[in-house]
Parts: sequence; C-alpha cells; structure tokens
Amino acid sequence: VQETGEVLTGVDRSKMTVSDTDVAIDIVGMHKWYGDFHVLRDINLRVMRGERIVIAGPSGSGKSTLIRCVNRLEEHQKGQIIVNDVELTSDLKRVDEVRREVGMVFQHFNLFPHLSILENCTLAPIWVRGTPKAEAEATAMHFLERVKIPEQALKFPGQLSGGQQQRVAIARSLCMNPKIMLFDEPTSALDPEMIKEVLDVMVGLAEEGMTMICVTHEMGFARQVANRVIFMDQGQVIEQNEPEEFFSNPQHERTKLFLSQIL
Ligand code: ADP
Ligand code: MG
Repeated sequence: VQETGEVLTGVDRSKMTVSDTDVAIDIVGMHKWYGDFHVLRDINLRVMRGERIVIAGPSGSGKSTLIRCVNRLEEHQKGQIIVNDVELTSDLKRVDEVRREVGMVFQHFNLFPHLSILENCTLAPIWVRGTPKAEAEATAMHFLERVKIPEQALKFPGQLSGGQQQRVAIARSLCMNPKIMLFDEPTSALDPEMIKEVLDVMVGLAEEGMTMICVTHEMGFARQVANRVIFMDQGQVIEQNEPEEFFSNPQHERTKLFLSQIL
C-alpha cells in the first residue's frame, strides 16, 4: 500500500469497495486434469485491468485450455480462478455472471451459419440481455462499422472471407460490452493477407484500454501491443516478461528453442 500511497492522494480509500479493485483476473495455484492427464500445473497469473497479455507456446502446451478455464468453458480441479471479483466454481449463476463480462474469439470464428451477420450480433444481446431488437441492431451496426464491414450486415457467414468472419466474431463479442476479451489464435486459420485486418481491430481494442488475453503466434502483434508475454510449455508457465525482454533475452532453453522456430 505504501508505494501506491502517493498515487492515491486525494482518493478516499474508504469509498473503494472490493469491486473497485484493479485486478481483472486472478488465477492462483490452479491445476486441471483431463481424466488422468495433468494438463495445467500450478498456474499463477494475475491480470490487471487494461493489461494486454500474449500467451505463446508450442502446440499442446495448454494455452487454449487455460483461457477456456477463464470463462469456464473448461473446469479446473484445484486452485482458484477469480474474474472481475467473482470466483469460478460449479455455481452456474456465478459462471453466467462471469461470462456476461468476458468475450471470447476463437480460431474458427464459430459464427452461426444460418443467421445473418446482423443476427449473429444481436442474438445474445436480445436473448441473454433482453435488449430491445432495435437497440441491439443499432449497437450491432455500430460495432460492424468499427470492424469496417457494416455493408455485410445482411449477408450470411458463408458469403464472407475468413478475415471478415473473424471481424464479425469480434464485433459480436463487443455487442455484449465485455470488460475482458479472450482471443484464442484468432488469425491462425486466416490467409496471410487477412491477418492484418484482424490484428488491426485487436490493436484498436488494446488502444482503448480493453483487458485482453491473446493466444497468438503473431510476435509482431505481441511486440506492438502486449505489456506481458507469457510462455507456456507442458502445462506450465515457464517464463513471462515484457515483450522486449522476452524476445531479446529469453531465459529458458525451451523458450529459446520456441523462439528460434517461429521467428
Ligand atoms: P494448446 O492450445 O497450447 O495447443 P490445448 O490446451 O489445446 O493446447 O491442449 C493441451 C493438451 O490437452 C494437449 O495435449 C491436448 O491434446 C489435450 N487436450 C485438449 N483438450 C482435451 C480434451 N477435451 N480432452 C482430453 N485432452 C485434451
Ligand atoms: Mg490452442
């Protein structure tokens, strides 16, 4: 508390409730097993509001499993995961509470193929939030403009390129007004010429202060946007550092090997 005392001058600390905390995600001593397979081992990761974390690591190291645990698409068996001050447990009400605040974008877009782009974006606001249809559509158009494809609103996902579909997926998440965005290799299914249009949207979100965890091998993006890079291998966080240090001065042999293979 002492070192923050100066910064907090003029702030009435007695008015700060627990929900004013600056911690967005707190993962403490967390383990997960798939059956007998110990997939995540003693994960400790605290993400502050506004932080942009990039998670890198070899295929199978547990990156997807880790971020899927953050909105309980996967269950952990040991330790704690606290998101926006809510601990994730088997209590489904709390899981819903967390999911309302956490957007997720997947490698394969996961749009509903039989719904128009606009309907993809309004479905959850209307049915989960109870937002009136006209308002949900206005919000959807706002975010489709932000990802630069408002003219595609009445088309179906199959009529769009991969890069466009991924931008719809991001817009769809933003329509729920998330406090945290999770990205799981959002560009790795895209042709090279479409990667930038998706990364540009992500950079924009970062610049606006969105709390983000991004699993990605786009190391240019990591350098530009991340304030921390986390390296995972075999279910463990092996090292973490700010990007310049991470890339120029990796500490562990496994990190060096990984970087030599992807850079
Ligand atoms: P990454 O995203 O880093 O490639 P994953 O989190 O997808 O890694 O997977 C980590 C490990 O867990 C891999 O060995 C994978 O085969 C295994 N795994 C992933 N999902 C399941 C599942 N539903 N059941 C059993 N094993 C799984
Ligand atoms: Mg993965």
